[in-house]
Amino acid sequence: MKQTQLWIGDTWIPGASTVTLHSPYTGDPIAEIGYASVEQAEQAIEVAAAAFKSFYKVPAYTRAEILRKVASAMEKRHEELARLIAKESAKPIQAARGEIDRTIQTYLFAAEAARDNRGETIPMDAAPHGENHLAYTQRKPLGVVTAITPFNFPMNLVAHKVGPAIAAGNTIVLKPAEQTPLSSLILAELFQQSGLPAGVLNIIPGSGAELGEILTTHPKVAFITFTGSPRVGKLIRAQAGLRRVTLELGSNSPLLIDEGFSPDELEKIADETTNGSFNYDGQVCISIQRVYVHKNIYDGFVERMVQRAEKLKIGDPLAEDTNISALINTAAADRLKKWVEHAVSKGAVVQTGGTFEGNVMAPTILTNVSPDAELNTEEAFGPIITITPFETWSEAIDMANRSKFGLNSGAFTKDIERALQAAEKLESGGVLINQIPTFRVDQMPYGGVKESGSGREGIRYAMEEMMDIKLVVLRMN
Ligand code: NAD
Repeated sequence: MKQTQLWIGDTWIPGASTVTLHSPYTGDPIAEIGYASVEQAEQAIEVAAAAFKSFYKVPAYTRAEILRKVASAMEKRHEELARLIAKESAKPIQAARGEIDRTIQTYLFAAEAARDNRGETIPMDAAPHGENHLAYTQRKPLGVVTAITPFNFPMNLVAHKVGPAIAAGNTIVLKPAEQTPLSSLILAELFQQSGLPAGVLNIIPGSGAELGEILTTHPKVAFITFTGSPRVGKLIRAQAGLRRVTLELGSNSPLLIDEGFSPDELEKIADETTNGSFNYDGQVCISIQRVYVHKNIYDGFVERMVQRAEKLKIGDPLAEDTNISALINTAAADRLKKWVEHAVSKGAVVQTGGTFEGNVMAPTILTNVSPDAELNTEEAFGPIITITPFETWSEAIDMANRSKFGLNSGAFTKDIERALQAAEKLESGGVLINQIPTFRVDQMPYGGVKESGSGREGIRYAMEEMMDIKLVVLRMN
């Protein structure tokens, strides 16, 4: 079986310990993963800090060219990379291919952003004592960036950190999720072949609980970018001290559906809602979880959703026609089982699904779910939605906002006033009108409010977070 190592500098180094990686779908062992110790994480940070001393001087066009070459290498190895994601994360192969398409775009956007790093001139004479001064800003890289990533988009969410960090001229220590280290380790090869200098990207699989502290408190770490659960996000925030941090955390995205659509339009909305709810088993931070439907179309919409959920094909992530596969682990399946039972004990009705086979959960739709049941208050991160009727648009917005999260929200309506009301009042980092909240292109600003995090990704925005503004003032007497 394949035995992996750590990538530090431009060398493969054996990990301090070894953990077997299993397929979430079959349970079969896939590889033996070398895990970094705290000392090895320190070593990676030191190597990244030393590499920064020369990397920040590498010109933008060279950094852009490296990123472009990585995108083109991924294009050539598209199918191999998609199968790697499918194997280790149980993401259905069609969705895994979609992730590779997006990852390529993310690296290309990063290449463009590297070439377009601008400052501004400051209108100094706007203040009486500012006359006769010329001032301009430049954006400068920060140094070592720690990137800690989740399992659910093991290539594209890594690209959203590695891409802008390199575009900015920073160096990186990447700790991938325990469940999906292989999708990160392959980057060592792709970046080395694309001409990235040694030490700029260091990849250290390992336990988050063990390595989290050193990766967030080491004095040579300048910036932390984290995507993952709110629980870990809060820990990182508490440990980071004065360091800047981007936290991309969880959510339970709401979708509002107004009356006034034709039957054909409702069919299309139901198709898109099905996709946004059940794609990759709902293990997506902007997966639709709470659907609020106008009471006049509620029954028909529930029926449309049930018909679609029941047609989804459950099976092997590597099979071409699979829509739903195994959840990432048994703990996720156990948690969802408990939450469904709890909701049902409070009066919820299971319209379809609610069943499990091993770690595979059938696509599940619940109605009449109490507002304080976990399925409405917490992040499910599974193939499950609740559908609730509303009478007035304001009531729908209030229900959507009754959440500690706020990443993306969606609202379908034909009424321009209601659209603007939703845009104004929905408490989330993004509001998508006549689009599902799960929609994302990789250049748009992306991030949350409330417990969904702080800071923004989307290449240009992430790059700005990873840079300091340096002001230069020239007296012109
Ligand atoms: P997780 O928080 O369990 O793990 C994420 C990473 O944090 C892993 O690399 C893990 O090893 C590490 N980690 C664990 N304990 C740590 C500690 N004490 N200190 C530092 N690092 C530690 O999350 P997950 O289960 O991999 O991913 C699912 C979560 O990620 C969901 O909540 C989901 O919504 C969120 N997510 C958010 C976005 C976004 O852009 N907002 C995108 C994808 C996923």
